This record gives sequence, structure tokens and C-alpha cells, in this order.
Amino acid sequence: MDNLKLWHKFLQTIKAKISPENFKAYFLKTLLKSVTENQIVLNVPSAFIVETLNRDYKRLIEDTFEKLLGKRALVEFRVKEFEPVSEEETENFFQPPQLQPVSLNPRYTLENFVVGPSNNVAYAAAEAVVQNPGTSYNPLFIYGGTGVGKTHLMLGIGNAILKRKPSLKTVYCASDKFMNDFVEAIQTHRMGDFRKRYRALDILLIDDIQFFSGREGTQEEFFHTFNELQGKNSQMVITSDRPPHEIEKLEDRLRSRFAGGLMVDIQSPDFDTRMAILKAKCAEQGERLEEDALRLLASSLDSSIRELEGKLMQIMQSLKLKNLPPTAENIASFLDQRPRKANLDPKLALSKICDFFNLSLKDLTGPRRQKELVLPRHIAMYILSEELQLTVEGTGKLLGGRDHTTVMHGRDKIRELILRDREVQKILIEVKNKLA
Ligand code: ADP
Ligand code: MG
Repeated sequence: MDNLKLWHKFLQTIKAKISPENFKAYFLKTLLKSVTENQIVLNVPSAFIVETLNRDYKRLIEDTFEKLLGKRALVEFRVKEFEPVSEEETENFFQPPQLQPVSLNPRYTLENFVVGPSNNVAYAAAEAVVQNPGTSYNPLFIYGGTGVGKTHLMLGIGNAILKRKPSLKTVYCASDKFMNDFVEAIQTHRMGDFRKRYRALDILLIDDIQFFSGREGTQEEFFHTFNELQGKNSQMVITSDRPPHEIEKLEDRLRSRFAGGLMVDIQSPDFDTRMAILKAKCAEQGERLEEDALRLLASSLDSSIRELEGKLMQIMQSLKLKNLPPTAENIASFLDQRPRKANLDPKLALSKICDFFNLSLKDLTGPRRQKELVLPRHIAMYILSEELQLTVEGTGKLLGGRDHTTVMHGRDKIRELILRDREVQKILIEVKNKLA
């Protein structure tokens, strides 16, 4: 058995014995260097990982090798940043992590995208791309503020192409997925695999590319992916919350590549479009609202459609719980009685949230990651930052010193769930009642 095969078998055995997180953190980045009569040398990417392996896993590693080799050998760790393995060789042994071709959320289509003056140019470009992928506008670069429909339109393009030409390899990829895949490919010596996957696509949808800002390695890799795809007329659609020249720390050559296709923006929706969208969302949910009620809602928010949709759902849910019909009057009173609870003591709020979920404060703010703690934590993040208007940093601090990005993630998760998850809608209403 050669070293690579042995290492592969070793990984498979170990993987079954330890948690996926630890496996990923300590073993995926490690590589078998050499095997001799009584010594096995592993190349490990950092001294920290060496320490952990030595302390927690040495025994397990030696036992596992003993089983595979039929003899006992001592394991030695060496810190080695990067040990390139022939990519071809590696590919044959590792199942490529899948880029699922049909992972597009089917909820977002061009048919249910409401068109108005704020987005009709972008919509027309989307249709053109669907008609002639790879040839008319490549890339199609869509930019605009949050919640205006960029992701929806992009997925609409993907779904329409999938429907017309199911054989095309179409992938939607949030830009952090591209980044993470890239970093993982480097760490696990699978760049060949990574390139093969991305460069074989017919349609690549990259969402929120502003996150590439400052990531030099990722940008470099994406530049090559981009050229290769463009060279073979594979369609790319890219979204961003701002135009390329406003994305800081982005390589000029990428900027000019992005601008070389078609750039379109989506603006905040005007009143009539907001009305039309509200009507469409009501119809999707099987709700009926009076024209006056819709007007009231449409005038209460003017930039983000995501928030508008969220508010609609929240109100409908609250009214239902109170057994009130969705009249303009009732909606007005709901809109009025929503003063943010900015003066409520955050600690008190936290303890009430704990009460509600029957958890101790220690559990809620502690490091454990049990499934039953996740939702309460996200709800706490949401309540503290949205309702009590604490900063995300402040919220993180109160929740056991969590990072502000963690808080943002949790808060956004709840924002998203409010739209579709009845259970979460109910929980939030009840929690908020407790705080009132
Ligand atoms: P962005 O990616 O720009 O932040 P999204 O595409 O995620 O925004 O849109 C947010 C929400 O608003 C989604 O639920 C989406 O379906 C809805 N939405 C946005 N624009 C429209 C539109 N023109 N018609 C129907 N729904 C829309
Ligand atoms: Mg988006």
C-alpha cells in the first residue's frame, strides 16, 4: 500500500471515531510523510495542531496505524506548512466535495419576481441571459442595496436556465462558499479538484461578491476561474451590494473584468412596486388584505423588500393570534404599538428569554453548542439587537463574549425564519409578550 492510499484509509477510520469538527480541524490538514519499519512521520500544518495531536490523539493514531499495518510504529509529528502532493493522485482518492448542480432554491423564479421601474432593467438583462446564456452579457453584474431582490433575480435566472436546459451544469455559490472551498482546497492539497469543479461549469452564479474584498488569494483564483469560464462561453452572474469600483480592496483586473460585461442596478422599490409585491406575497400565502391595509403597510417601509415581507408576516401572525381581522385599522394599531423596547434592561430581557426556554443563563451564554441551545441563542441575538437596539458588539458581549459576526449571523437567521417558519413566528410573539 502506498502512502497516499494508507493515509486515505487512515482518515476514513479516524473519521468514524471522532467528531466531524475535530476531524476537519486536526486531520484534514495533516498528511502522511513517510512510513519506515518502526516510525511514521506526519506533516502537520501548525505547532498548535501538533500539540493537540500529541496530547489528545497520539494513542488513537498509533492504534489505527497498527491495525492498518499489522505492526506497531511510533508516530512523529513535524510542522510543515505546505507539502504539495500530486493533485492528480489526490483526486483519485478523495471523493470531491460536491458542488450540487441542482441546489437552487426553487422558490425564487423569474415568474414570481415582480417587475417595476426600480428593477426592470435588471429583469430585462436577466431574461436576455436566460435566452442566450454565455453570449449576450457575460458576466451579468447585478448590484443594489440589501433586500432589493438581487439573490431572487439571480436564482430566477438559474432556475429558468435549469428548466430550459437541464443538462447545463448550473451552480449557485455564495461568495463565502467559494472562499471556503478555496481555502479548504489549499489546506487539503486538492486544488486540482477545486479547479476542475469550478472550471467545468456552464453557469456560475456568485452571490455577494463584495465579500471578496481584501481576500487576495481568493481573488487571484477567481480571476483565473473567471477567465476560463468566459473563454468557453460559460455564463456568469455576479451580485454585489455596490458597483465594482466601490468595492474596496478588489484587484483592478477583476474590477475591469466585472465591468466588461453588463452592469445593472436594482433600486429601492417605489410605492406601486411595493404594493404589487405585497399583493403577490399575500397571494402566495393564501392571505387576503384590504387595499387600504396594503397601502398602510407599503408606506411604512421603503427600502428593503425583505423587511417589508417580514413585517407583513409578523403582522399577519400577530393579528391571527389575537383573533383580529387584517383590516387597515388593526394594522395601523399594530404599526403604532411597535415602539422599540430600547429602554428595557438587556439583562432583564435575557433572563426572561431564559425563563421562556427554561434554560439557565449559563447555558444560554455558554460555549456549548447543543442543538437545543441554538435557536434560543439566535432569538436572544435577535431580540437584543433588533428590539432593544443594542449594537451587535454589545449583544455579543452579553451573550458570553461572542463575536459580532456571530451575532449578525444569528440575527439574520431569525429574520429569515420569521418569514417562513410558523413555529419561530409564534415563539417570537410570545417572547416579546413576556418582555412587554
Ligand atoms: P437581496 O439579495 O438584494 O438582499 P433578496 O433577493 O434576498 O434580496 O430579496 C429579499 C426578499 O424580497 C426575498 O424574499 C425576495 O423574494 C423578495 N423580493 C425582492 N424583490 C422582489 C420582487 N421584485 N418581486 C418579488 N419578491 C421580491
Ligand atoms: Mg442576497
